[in-house]
Amino acid sequence: MSRDIDVLHLGRDRVICVYELDGVIVDPGPASCLDTLIDRLGRSEPRALLLTHIHLDHAGAAGVLCRRYPKLQVYVHENGAPHLVDPSKLLESAGRLHGDDMWELWGEVAPVPAERIHALAGGETIEGFRVAYTPGHASHHVCYLHEDSGDAYVGDTTGVRIPPYDHTIAPTPPPDIDVEAWLDSLHTVASWNPQSLCLTHFGRVTDVAEHLHRMRCALTDQADSARLDGEEGFIAKFESRLGEATDPATVEVFEQAAPPDQLYQGLERYWRKRAAA
Ligand SMILES: [Zn+2]
Repeated sequence: MSRDIDVLHLGRDRVICVYELDGVIVDPGPASCLDTLIDRLGRSEPRALLLTHIHLDHAGAAGVLCRRYPKLQVYVHENGAPHLVDPSKLLESAGRLHGDDMWELWGEVAPVPAERIHALAGGETIEGFRVAYTPGHASHHVCYLHEDSGDAYVGDTTGVRIPPYDHTIAPTPPPDIDVEAWLDSLHTVASWNPQSLCLTHFGRVTDVAEHLHRMRCALTDQADSARLDGEEGFIAKFESRLGEATDPATVEVFEQAAPPDQLYQGLERYWRKRAAA
């Protein structure tokens, strides 16, 4: 079983969970949380990073970790790989969302040496994990099934759910959101019949079928709301549901992991692209 490490993003618990399993780390989180991660790893030296996607809350620390551990290998979808080698476009796109808060949120984003990167297409097995291509949240998202344990490492594919609550939301920031592809990806994860889902935000989920159902509903409801209610209506509905289902401290955790205005922007862009196509 993996170690589930809360890296205490901005000092807050239940925002970003990093998983470590026999020297393999799934999504190391951002460099701003690196002290906590290194501390929790103790003396064990990681040999591989499995990245679900390159967003900074998941993979921001990859380059800094490569500098620290000279043998560390990095697995990532082939569409994401070029942006690890040269993170300038990634930083530009994140900068549009986060503005002046970039450093505080994510810390240093160092390039990953190209020779450390193993580009994935989906369908391969690496380090004991089966890989599936799971676009929807990001066009370069993959999920990993650990074959021995049946645990699926799903990044953002199966949503954001903050314990102890089962309220689930779809993280839909710009620029890649694709609702149809995402629903297909949920099907892909379900077809693995995993014994648990390991979410980045936040932690391990064992009521797999119920959770996937809640996630499908959240994704389609949010997509409809973004199309019909406008930004203010979308945010009001989202926040009132969240407030009813959880408590004020947990609302802050949800909104740190998935800021509501960004959720609207990603879906608004999705509908605009679809109308133009
Ligand atoms: Zn995320």
